[in-house]
Amino acid sequence: MDNLLECVPAELCCLVQLTEINLNNNKVSSLPPVLGRLSNLRKLYLARNNLYELPEGISGCKSLRILDVAGNLLTMFPTDFGFLALEELLCEGNSLVHAELMTSVQEIEVLSLKELAAREVLMEKRNQCSVVHRTLPLYPELVSMLSQWGWCAVCHKPFLTTWLECVQFVNLKIDMGMKRNLTVPVRAVLCSYTCFNEKGHSYYGIASTV
Ligand SMILES: [Zn+2]
Repeated sequence: MDNLLECVPAELCCLVQLTEINLNNNKVSSLPPVLGRLSNLRKLYLARNNLYELPEGISGCKSLRILDVAGNLLTMFPTDFGFLALEELLCEGNSLVHAELMTSVQEIEVLSLKELAAREVLMEKRNQCSVVHRTLPLYPELVSMLSQWGWCAVCHKPFLTTWLECVQFVNLKIDMGMKRNLTVPVRAVLCSYTCFNEKGHSYYGIASTV
């Protein structure tokens, strides 16, 4: 802690026996996407850095109990944040988005041919008996193109490009069993305006991330 570190090498995440990392008071702006490999990590101190996001897949840190991200530039938490079994979260002094109902834009979306094809392939790929599932490994370029996909939080179907970025508001006490009664924004991605306009879900559109 108390250094001028700007980045954290991904190799750090190979040290799977680590139980505590203290990077308070540095200049770290991003964390390795493989942070979730640290399955024994119990305490992660990242206060007063320049983090604008936490990596997706953070829920891989199954042992994480204390997370201190106070005094950063976070606007929301990653999609799998709710799966962490945290006991304590410190997040004061960030730029977390607030619940403001955005009037939904009634646009008719026009998906590119690539996106349409990718969604079909991703759906088919889930079926282990399908031709797509069996033959896709023969096309490494296609596999790598399809590797950055996501699930729609509403219809649970896969898509390639993040169509609509939303947040849901998670209460630390009610939803995650922590002592603090604080509500924080957690990222969610939706596949379409059709899903966004669906009634009964609790995802909010983001007008702008300050
Ligand atoms: Zn959807």
